[in-house]
Amino acid sequence: MIVVTGATGKLGTLVVEGLLDRVPAEEIAVLVRDPRKAARFGEQGVQVRVGDYDDPGSLTGAFGEGDKVLLVSGSEVGQRIPQHKAVVDAAKGAGVALLAYTSILGGPAADFELAREHQVTERYILDSGLPYVLLRNGWYHENYTDGIGQALATGGLLTSAAEGARVASASRADFAAAAVAVLVGEGPENAEYELSGDVAWSFEEYAAEVSRVLGKEFPLNRVTPEVHRGILEGAGLPDPLPAVFVGVDEAVSRGLLAVRTGDLSRLIGRPTTPIAESIALAVKHL
Ligand code: NDP
Repeated sequence: MIVVTGATGKLGTLVVEGLLDRVPAEEIAVLVRDPRKAARFGEQGVQVRVGDYDDPGSLTGAFGEGDKVLLVSGSEVGQRIPQHKAVVDAAKGAGVALLAYTSILGGPAADFELAREHQVTERYILDSGLPYVLLRNGWYHENYTDGIGQALATGGLLTSAAEGARVASASRADFAAAAVAVLVGEGPENAEYELSGDVAWSFEEYAAEVSRVLGKEFPLNRVTPEVHRGILEGAGLPDPLPAVFVGVDEAVSRGLLAVRTGDLSRLIGRPTTPIAESIALAVKHL
């Protein structure tokens, strides 16, 4: 069986949909904390298993010997180390054939706060001795394009990334397709993929393209890291998120999210989705 965790989230949903195009539904299982959200997969013949990363007991029996598992990293920053360890322990206990994990571009080289939990998880997976694939995902286009409406309402795209800094993002669907390729493929055991878009765009280019599609100016609101943090705190973002987001822009300034290896387009067998495509889609749905 191929088992996808986080299958009711945005990435996991795309992965399951991609798997359904490639393998019979009876060979796919999802591990979710709320089975009601996975009902449509169940109706298609996908096995729905219930488990919560926060409750190690609930993960006993979540996996079977020989399963290929995709651990989609959790969404609660600051809570993810024990959560991921619980999933790895359960996978090890079951004797799965493969544990794939959605990590972060750069892996051990990503020296910013958001990456820390991924680094600890990677180490834990390596130490588990399980056959593994590290899908080191760069940024989703949607991290930016989903915020176009809010940016328009609040005076522009808020960023503390340096002028000229670039991001080699790709669409969430591209990253999902990479996970599918690994889960259905016969690729090398114990592999690390540095996954990012084929093109690294600058914020100036991004704003120009959004402006073009909107037919009006889409401004950049470029601020210092201190001001950025203050704005996020003022907006009520809970700790540690303001510092984490400012840390991401600082990493962007250093080019850490502009790395292009070609791994993503090679894995999915096509060029990655241009950011202009995701911008057009987002603007259409404003
Ligand atoms: P989502 O927030 O849409 O999905 C997160 C998934 O994780 C959901 O299915 C959620 O379940 C599940 N989950 C969270 N906590 C638990 C838990 N305690 N037990 C079981 N399941 C849990 O994020 P995406 O799908 O967009 O992204 C996937 C992951 O990638 C994120 O969780 C995050 O780690 C990372 N990410 C990467 C980004 C990038 O640019 N590379 C950007 C944003 C996130 P439920 O549906 O029940 O809430």
